[in-house]
Amino acid sequence: MICPVCKDVQLKEQELETNLSTARCDQCGGHWIRAIQYWEWRGGQAAEGEIAPGDIPDPSEFQSEATDLEVVVEDHKEAKICPECSRILTRRPVGRGLDFTLDRCGTCGGLWFDKNEWQVLKKHGLHEEVHFIFSAAWQAQVAREDKTRAYEERLQHLLGTEEFNRASEVRQWLLAHPQRNSILSYLCQPENGEKAS
Ligand SMILES: [Zn+2]
Ligand SMILES: [Zn+2]
Repeated sequence: MICPVCKDVQLKEQELETNLSTARCDQCGGHWIRAIQYWEWRGGQAAEGEIAPGDIPDPSEFQSEATDLEVVVEDHKEAKICPECSRILTRRPVGRGLDFTLDRCGTCGGLWFDKNEWQVLKKHGLHEEVHFIFSAAWQAQVAREDKTRAYEERLQHLLGTEEFNRASEVRQWLLAHPQRNSILSYLCQPENGEKAS
C-alpha cells in the first residue's frame, strides 16, 4: 500500500495499540487502519449508517487522559486516495474543540490519520469512537458547535474581550444553576418605574 499523503512511499505494518496493527508511513508519520482491524480491536460490529443522535456518548463520558503533553497535529487537508481501493477518501471535521479533520474511505471503511491525530484523539478519549465521527448525527453536532463558536466570536467583537468573558462566566453559572429560570425572570424584570415592553 502507498501513502495517500506522500504518494510514493510504501506503508509499513506497525503496532499502534495492543492488538491494533496499522500501516504506517515513515516519511509523514501518518497511519492507515483497515476497517477490519479497527473493528476487531474495538471488539464491535460495523454499524454503517445506523448511528442515531442518542447512540453518541455524551462528551462527559469520554475519558480524557490527564497529560500535559503538547501534541501538534499535522493535518493534511488535500484530497487523498484510499491505499486499499483507490477511491477518494471522505474528510470530516472532528469537532469537540479539536481543530482537525479525519479521512475515511466510504467504500472499504479504512481510516487515515495524519501525524499525531491518533494521539490527540486518544488524549481526548475519542480514539475508540472514530466511527461516530463520520456519522450524520455527529456531524450535525459539529455544525451546531461551529454555529455557536461563530456567534460567540461576533458577540466578543461587539462587547470586547473583558465584557464578553464576564457575560460568558455569568452564562455558565446560570446554566449550571438549579434555579436558573427564576434567576432569568428576575434578570428580565423591568426596573422600578420602568414600563415592561
Ligand atoms: Zn506519507
Ligand atoms: Zn478504500
